[in-house]
Order: sequence, then C-alpha cells, then structure tokens
Amino acid sequence: MLKLRKCLDQVREYQSPAPEPTLDLRLDLNESTTGCSPRVLARIRALDAKTLALYPPREPGEEMIAGFLGIKPSEALLTNGADEAIDLLCRAFLEPEDEIIVVVPAFNMYEIFAQGTGATTVRVPAGPDFSFPADGIIAAIRPRTRIIVITNPHNPSGHVVQKTDIYRVLKAAPDAAVLLDEAYFDFYGETMMGEVGKIPNLFVARTFSKAYGLAGMRLGVLAGPEEHIAVIRRLTSPFNVNVFALECLAEALADQEFIAGYVEQVRSTRAWVQRELEKLGFQYWPSHANFILVNFGEMRAAILSAMTAQGIALRNRPDIPGCVRITIGTQPEMERVLTVLKQVVANTPVAQQVTR
Ligand code: PMP
Repeated sequence: MLKLRKCLDQVREYQSPAPEPTLDLRLDLNESTTGCSPRVLARIRALDAKTLALYPPREPGEEMIAGFLGIKPSEALLTNGADEAIDLLCRAFLEPEDEIIVVVPAFNMYEIFAQGTGATTVRVPAGPDFSFPADGIIAAIRPRTRIIVITNPHNPSGHVVQKTDIYRVLKAAPDAAVLLDEAYFDFYGETMMGEVGKIPNLFVARTFSKAYGLAGMRLGVLAGPEEHIAVIRRLTSPFNVNVFALECLAEALADQEFIAGYVEQVRSTRAWVQRELEKLGFQYWPSHANFILVNFGEMRAAILSAMTAQGIALRNRPDIPGCVRITIGTQPEMERVLTVLKQVVANTPVAQQVTR
C-alpha cells in the first residue's frame, strides 16, 4: 500500500475562488484589473519560436532584478511567484519538529507550505484593528522557531508594520528566518530591502502579481543573505521561472511610469471607496494595499449573493466575522460595486442594518 507522508494529512487546500464564467469582475484575488504595461505585452508579442524552444536561463534576470532592488545577484532568487519563495523558505528551514510563527488572519499559503514539511504553525492573533502583534510574536518564540512571517502591508487587512517592530522581531529571533512578505510593497513604498545581506536572518519576498499586473506570468523574488540563498537556489528546479517572465522582466522593471500611474489610480479610487463606505456606515480598515477589508456584519451574505448575481466576485473571509475583502479596481468598476451595495442597503429593513 502506498504511504503518503504523515504530515500531509494536515495540509489544507488553498481555497482559491473558482473561475466562474458568469463573474466578469473579479475583485477576490487582489489581481490588477488594469493589466500589465503595454511594453510588456509588446515584448511578448515579439517573442520568436526559437526563444520559446529553449530552456530559459534565470541568471540574467537575477542580475537585472538585483540591480533594480539594490542588492547583489547572489542575494536574489527569482521564483515562480512569491508562493514559490514561501515554499522554498519552508523547505529550507523547517524540520518536522520545528515551528513557524504567523500572524492571523493571514495569507493561507504560509501555513499550507509549512504543513507540507510537517512543522507546526504557531498562530499569533493580530492586535486590535489588525495591528501588528510584535509582543505576541516575541512571546511565542521558542527554541524550535525557525521561521517568522511578517506581511507588510498585511493581507487581508491592509495594515502596515512599523520598521521598529520588524527590527525588534529580527533581533529577538536570531535562530529564525524572518520572512518579510512585501507582496503589496508598491502600494505602500516602505521596504526593508536595503537591509538584505546586512541582517543575517532577514528575507524579503516580492511579487509581480499585484502592481505589475502579471499574476498570470508567475514571477516573484526572494532576497536574503547570500549564503542561505545559495542553498535555497539548489532546492529550486533549474527552470522554475518561465521564458515569458524572464523575457519581459526588463520591460516590466523599466516602465515605472506605468506602475506609478496604476498605484496612484488605486490610491485615489481606494480613498473614494473608503468615503462611500463611511457614508453607508460600514466599518472598514484603512488600507495601504490594492484591497480593502470591510465589515458588512449581518448583511455579508446578502451582499455577497447580490454581487455574485451582478457578476462581481468579492472575497469572503469566513475567519473574520462579517468581513469581506474587496480588491480595488478602476473607478468605474468600483462605482459598479457601490451601486450594488447601495441597492442591498436600500432593500434591507433598517432593523437588520443596525448591526452593520
Ligand atoms: N503573499 C501575499 C501576502 C499574497 O497576498 C500573495 C498573493 N495573493 C502572495 C504572497 C503570492 O503571490 P504570487 O502570485 O507572487 O505567488
């Protein structure tokens, strides 16, 4: 009889929202609804058959991204999305008897990849209003703590972590790799990338799936101390990053004007959405990313089904009472969301609205 590894019994499935042809506005995965830079598209269109026929070398891309991030190529590993960066870090540092600390609520993949190693996930609840629980994390550090994850800005709240807190955690856990997940960095602007290689236990992950509008390309980067990146590099499959991602990297990085324009649009539309939510009396958490977490209270189920009926997908967060995470799309897209929201509010008896 086949015997799967025991720890795999525990591995939860990533609850990715199903692709639904009736949903034409996906605001549930924090993708860009604007798409990528036209320069990236032009590069893809210009690719020839010979380029596609060859295995794509990663090294030139790693030199390029290292230059862009201001780190050494030996400190940068290009990955198949930030997901692979998280997986590799877990595989590199976690023995079955080890522990990983995550802040909950969290992006699910930390725990899923950790479970694949057999390690134990220690969940530290976020503070009031999703504030970063630096003290709680420090109190949870034990001799077998090997990874601590800090998501900045945090998904799903959009809350940010102050650098002083990041330094405190780094200092308190010299035997643990601290993974700073900066997937939503571009919408915030603060980074610890400048400390990579200087702080021995700091790793920073970035992705091209959000501000760069390239989630389908699957491109991320893991930055960290070169001696550890060298070992992690040996764990990757040699061609983990596909030819499209590698061929487009230069154009994606070069078109910072496109990124700045998109980030600016997200910020102003997000501010508008926040004002509209305030007018409707819904609680939300001010976000520094391309999404916003909203508490619809008792009205959550009605709102989600009305949105689905209108072709709009939002992300339910059953782990947070009443809450739904909404990706910020373009202004017209968000006006469409608000129209549906106002209809639901208008159709809900006032008595049922008081808990919102
Ligand atoms: N980290 C966080 C916090 C995320 O929200 C996501 C994607 N939703 C990822 C990592 C993974 O991104 P990628 O598409 O690069 O795998």
